[in-house]
Amino acid sequence: PLVLGIETSCDETGVGIVRGHTLLADAVASSVDTHARFGGVVPEIASRAHLEAMVPTIERALKEAGVAAFDLDGVAVTAGPGLAGALLVGVSAAKAYAYALGKPLYGVNHLASHICVDQLEHGALPEPTMALLVSGGHSSLLLAPDITADVRPLGSTIDDAAGEAFDKVARVLNLGFPGGPVIDRYAKQGDPDAIAFPRGLTGPRDAAYDFSFSGLKTAVARWIEAKRNAGEEVPVADVAASFQEAVTDVLTRKAVRACRDEGVDHLMIGGGVAANSRLRAMAEERCAAAGITLRVPRPKLCTDNGAMVAALGAEMVARNRTTSAWDLPADSSLPVTEPHVPDPSGH
Ligand code: ATP
Ligand code: MG
Ligand code: FE
Repeated sequence: PLVLGIETSCDETGVGIVRGHTLLADAVASSVDTHARFGGVVPEIASRAHLEAMVPTIERALKEAGVAAFDLDGVAVTAGPGLAGALLVGVSAAKAYAYALGKPLYGVNHLASHICVDQLEHGALPEPTMALLVSGGHSSLLLAPDITADVRPLGSTIDDAAGEAFDKVARVLNLGFPGGPVIDRYAKQGDPDAIAFPRGLTGPRDAAYDFSFSGLKTAVARWIEAKRNAGEEVPVADVAASFQEAVTDVLTRKAVRACRDEGVDHLMIGGGVAANSRLRAMAEERCAAAGITLRVPRPKLCTDNGAMVAALGAEMVARNRTTSAWDLPADSSLPVTEPHVPDPSGH
């Protein structure tokens, strides 16, 4: 099926077009530079930017794909989770296009989309899929027997998300926002074993699949503060590399354990933090050692984009899932267990 997907849950206005598992267009307009001045995403600015970028980005995607809007089999949109005002812009645009074109509307889950996008890279997801979802707002291990209908959390972060930890550590190091890509860059010049930062929730009595990054973030901040108080220079590259090592060590260790425990022979990693080069390399090593096939999309498909929404929408169409109602709401806290928002009246 030919599906257009719209993503506006945070600061990226993304519009993607796919035909089944084939990516035809992936247009993204980001307001990240505007937010950088404030050290984080400002919701009102994000909503306004989506409003301005929405129609041009849809037109750019259609042109890039070389398809006519009338040929679409459906319009998919992120219904949640995310910033309420930002989501509303995408949901309203999707309704308008779908209604005007007479096409089915699918409100889908942003988190399930971060997983489903891998179908554009590596073909049909195995069932069940074991997924490590690591992004700006979430860090979870998920087992999905069916990405369109059945997603089960095995464990999640009990405090900060992995991406949030990257952003906060970058702020303490005065590296700007967003922190992930810049820490990734600095870490390449640093020694990952220079500083032994704590690995949260890895004790024998800790929950096997839960994560905690708040203690790590505090440990990094304290270490830097001690250096500064002593009048010593902060070795930015070593701090970045050692912090990144602590995060990726815990993530990959728990993900491999989950695969072993559940008898799943592959691992999918999705979400913005899956763009991290060390996470990708370490996961590759540890999965190979454990006989697990690793599936990670190219970095551009890991961070927020419209193609991932189109990918999940196409799967909804292919599996004949119930469409969404014309009064589909934006749900800022849509749970990961709901891959899409079907019309409550069942039509
Ligand atoms: P969510 O998906 O939970 O709603 P989000 O959509 O804001 O959150 P994503 O766009 O999926 O998040 O990911 C953004 C996060 O990914 C940011 O925290 C950013 O720092 C992080 N990130 C991006 N690139 C990298 C990288 N190379 N290394 C580490 N983290 C990265
Ligand atoms: Mg973003
Ligand atoms: Fe995201």
